[in-house]
Formats: sequence, C-alpha cells, structure tokens
Amino acid sequence: MRIENHRIPGIWYGQSSNLGAQREKPPVIVVLHYTTGWNGKASRNWLMGEAGGTANRGSSAHVVIDRDGTAWQIAPFNRTAWHAGPSRYGEIEGINSVSVGIEFVNAGWLKPNGLGDFIDAYGKRMTARDLNKAGGYTLAPHARVGSGTFAWPLFPEAQLQTGLDVLQALLATYPIRAIVSHEEIDTRGWKTDPGPAFPMDRFRGLLGEAADREPAMVVTAGRLNLRGGPGTAFEKIVPPGTLLKGTRLKVLSRTGDWAFVAPEDVDGREGALRGWVHAAYIAPALAA
Ligand SMILES: [Zn+2]
Repeated sequence: MRIENHRIPGIWYGQSSNLGAQREKPPVIVVLHYTTGWNGKASRNWLMGEAGGTANRGSSAHVVIDRDGTAWQIAPFNRTAWHAGPSRYGEIEGINSVSVGIEFVNAGWLKPNGLGDFIDAYGKRMTARDLNKAGGYTLAPHARVGSGTFAWPLFPEAQLQTGLDVLQALLATYPIRAIVSHEEIDTRGWKTDPGPAFPMDRFRGLLGEAADREPAMVVTAGRLNLRGGPGTAFEKIVPPGTLLKGTRLKVLSRTGDWAFVAPEDVDGREGALRGWVHAAYIAPALAA
C-alpha cells in the first residue's frame, strides 16, 4: 500500500460527514481502536455519519479494517477525524487534530455471565463455542471494565496484516512519532481499546524500524557550520564549511546537542562528506 494525495489508492473510499477542518501540518500520531461490534459494514457506515445513512453526528475515523482484512478509508489523512475524544499524549492535548485514527472491527470485552457464557457490550449472549467460531478469544482482566476476567475476541491475522500495511504506508508518508492505543491517550479513563487481545508490540515495532532508517533531515538555518567534531571548538570542514538552508542530510549519530551528519549531494544521493552540525538547526524533512 502507498498513499497518494492523502488517500490509499486501490481501497474502497467513501467520505464520512463527521470531519473537521483540513489541517496544515501532517499527522504525527496513529491511534488504534476497536469498533465495539462484530459487523464491519455497520461500523463503517456508523462512522461515516450522514454519508453512511446513519444518525451518528459525533464520531469518525480515517480507516476501518474488517475482520477479513478488507480496508475502507472514510477520511483523507489531511482532514481531522473524530476518534480520540478528550485525550492527551505527552504535551499534546486533543489528539484528533494531529492524528490518524484506525478502527479494527472487534466486539471488545465480553463479561462472563456466571453460567459459562459471555455477554457482549450490546447484551448479546455468546458461548465459548460461539466465540471460537468467530475467531477465538483470550481471557484477561481489565481494571477499567471491572473486577474479574473478561473474554476479548482475537483479531484475525488477515485483519492485522492489513492494519500493518496501512501503518507502513503512513510511516512512509508522514513524520509519525508515536503509535498509541485509544486507552493510553483517553483522559476520561474509560476507554479500553484496542484491548489486551491486540498485539500492540507488532504495530509499535514498525515505528522502531522506521526510526532505524533515520528520516531525512533538512537544514533550517540560513547557513549552518559543518565542523570536524561536536562543538564550536572544532574547525569547520572546508569545503564546503557551511551548509545552506534546505540542504537535506542524514543523521548518523548524536552527541549532546550535536549531530554527526551526511549531507546529500546535489543529485539527492548520500554524498561522501561527513561532519558535525548543531542539532538545533536541523529538522525532519516533512513529506509533502
Ligand atoms: Zn477508540
């Protein structure tokens, strides 16, 4: 998968009515959710609001992924969708405006009814056999749901693979800095998604791989000294002595406020030149 003009070509697209403004800056956070339901199309239509023929006027997302691996995009990635609610991540409050929201079709927790069966969020009773037929489940406690253990339906591998593909495309296109669960950013303390059955580490792991690739950086100062070591006491490397604003470079290592960099040559390839620059004057080169 790839992203063109804030959309993933080749997958179903229908635009939700529940969207905020077009945003100036690219998204930097990906929030993962579950839909609290079994029916993918019903959830997709709900999150599309009026455009999906439903009465929902308060929530949306960017992508909904069904249990068979089908992905539906319902918002372009440069528009704010309403999926995070009251939320905070580090210094950022109100995550919707800086994030992409991905919804995985999944029923969420089911409570044991004391007779060996489980009751889902809509009061529907399911036996362990029903749950196994629907893809299996895991038992896990969760303080936000209550005391005891709850059944959490597993996420089928086809669904996870599509999710990983979408995430790869997002990482390749936007300066994503964090992949978070709705649970960990929800400031009201009652969200549980995508829950203990979701392999969060596999998704966060992609961010680690992306970081290893070191995103391209760009010089933001008018002229930036390129030095032989990490400090102003080190001689400038001549030529070129200074790097002009807009020069793209790769960071090879960092020491304190200094970065050891490889500027790209005029053809945009990694050149042979190496040197140190003050890291305050370089920034990630954001994808258009
Ligand atoms: Zn959520």
